[in-house]
Amino acid sequence: MHPMVKPALRRGWRDLKTVQFGMTPAHAMTLGPMDLATGSFLDLLNGTRGLELLREEGRRMDLPDGHVDRLVRGLARAGLLDDSRGGGPAADALRKTKEVLDRLRPDLASLSLTTSTPGDAIGQLAARRSQRVQVRGAGRVGAVLASLLAGAGVGEVDVLDGGRVEPWDVAPGGLPPESVGDRRDESARRAVRRAAPDRPPRRAPAQTSPEDGEPGFSLVILAPRDDVAVHAPDPAAAEPLMTSGTPHLYAGVVEGTGVVGPLVLPGETGCAGCLQEDRADRDPAWPRLIAQWRSGRQRQVRPCDLTLATTVAGLAAAHALAFLDGRVPSSAGARWEVSVPALHWQARPLQAHPACSCAAAERGKGEHLSEDGESHETMAVQRPSEQCREAEAERPAGTWRAHV
Ligand SMILES: [Zn+2]
Repeated sequence: MHPMVKPALRRGWRDLKTVQFGMTPAHAMTLGPMDLATGSFLDLLNGTRGLELLREEGRRMDLPDGHVDRLVRGLARAGLLDDSRGGGPAADALRKTKEVLDRLRPDLASLSLTTSTPGDAIGQLAARRSQRVQVRGAGRVGAVLASLLAGAGVGEVDVLDGGRVEPWDVAPGGLPPESVGDRRDESARRAVRRAAPDRPPRRAPAQTSPEDGEPGFSLVILAPRDDVAVHAPDPAAAEPLMTSGTPHLYAGVVEGTGVVGPLVLPGETGCAGCLQEDRADRDPAWPRLIAQWRSGRQRQVRPCDLTLATTVAGLAAAHALAFLDGRVPSSAGARWEVSVPALHWQARPLQAHPACSCAAAERGKGEHLSEDGESHETMAVQRPSEQCREAEAERPAGTWRAHV
C-alpha cells in the first residue's frame, strides 16, 4: 500500500489540534486530536511512499514508535486514505492508459469521496469499463445521457431508437446538427463513441436473460421522446425488464417538467405498474385520461426545453452511475421532478403498490445496511452530515440482482 490522504478534500486546521478534511457538509469531516508534527507528516502521505519508507520518515521526525501505523490505520478507518497502487488488476490496467485516466481524473477524485476503502475509487472507475448499459430513446435527453455515461467511463453504452434524426433532436453533447436525416440509433452511437475516453476491448456478454436470449444489461434507461411515455410509463413496455429482473431507470421531459426516476429494482422498489396503480387510486379519471393521451398521436413537435432536457440527462446519468457504482440513489422509490420556470427539484415518493404484480410491496423496504458506527482508537472522527448515508449502502459494483 502507498497511502495517500485523499487529495479531493481541502484540508484546514479548525484549531491547534483539529484538522478538517473537506469543505462541504456532505463529505467534510474533522479529525483530532492531532499534534502539529503528525499534521505535517500528513504531507508525506501523498501516494509516493510505501509503509516502510513512511515509518523511516516517522523515525526521522521523532514520532513515537508505532505512531505512523496508527495514523495510517486511523485515516483509513475514517475513509480519508486512498492507495495510489490499489484497486486490483483492472485499476492497474487503467493506470497504464495515462491519457484515459487523465480525462477521468476529476471523476476519480469524486469517486474517492464516496468510497471508504483505500484503492476503491480507482477500482470502481475501472469497474465502470466492464458495465453494459442500454439507453432507449435518442432524443434530446437520451442521446446526451448516453454520451455522458460513456464519457464517465461506462464501457458499453448501447442506444436504441427508431427513425431518423430531426432538426429538433439536436443538442450539445448529444446528436450534432450534421446528423440530421441520419438514422437516430446510429447517430447516437456515434455520439457515444465520441464521448468515450477510449474504447475498452469488447468482451463476451456476462449475463444472458433466459427469455429473449439477448445479453443482459446492468441497467436499462428509458428516455422516451414521447411525452406521454415520460409522464405515464407503460407497465407493459417494461414487462420483459421486470421478468428478467433488469434494473431500469426512467428519465425524460414532459411539457415543462423534467423527470428522473423511478429507478426500478424489480421486486424491490416501485415500478411503472406501481405508479399506474397509485395514480388510479388518487384520481378516478386517470385511466380515462391516459387512454386518451395514448391514443391521440401528436404530430407536432413536443415541448422540450433544451436546458431542461440537458439537466434531466445529467441528473439521470448521475443516478445511473451511482447505481452502477454499487449505491442505491434516491430515485429508487421516487420520481424527481423539476418544472420551468421556478426549477425547484422535488422528489415524489413512489411506494410499491400492493395491487401491482411486481410484488415489491410484499417485500417491504428491502435491505438496510448498517452504518459504520465503530469508534476509533486514537482519533475521533466527526462527520457533519448524515445526508449521504443512504447512498452509502454499498454493493459490489454491478452486482444487483432481483430476488424474483
Ligand atoms: Zn410494481
